Amino acid sequence: MTDPASLLRARRADLAAQRVSLTAELAGIRAAKGESSADDEHDPEGSTLSSDWSRISGLEAGLSAQEAEVAGALDRVAAGTYGLCENCGRPIGAPRLEARPTAALCIECAS
Ligand SMILES: [Zn+2]
Repeated sequence: MTDPASLLRARRADLAAQRVSLTAELAGIRAAKGESSADDEHDPEGSTLSSDWSRISGLEAGLSAQEAEVAGALDRVAAGTYGLCENCGRPIGAPRLEARPTAALCIECAS
């Protein structure tokens, strides 16, 4: 099995890269919104911007949740408790960790 810490760090780097592009996209929308807000708010471009905005806000929220999961898993690696269920303390099965490296609960506790 791959070393979980390097796997988690790779995932964290990947999430950070996604955040950079999301932030850039948000900044672009914000700039476009600022320009169009002087106009009629019912203009069709304005609503396109709003739906882009909510789509990207949703992605951002998902990204934050994943970042928190990865950070939590790395904390557990550092504390030496990675791979142990946070609820019952028993080892989380290797197949589950391979499928979901940030899993904090064993399959019994998670279900
Ligand atoms: Zn458990």
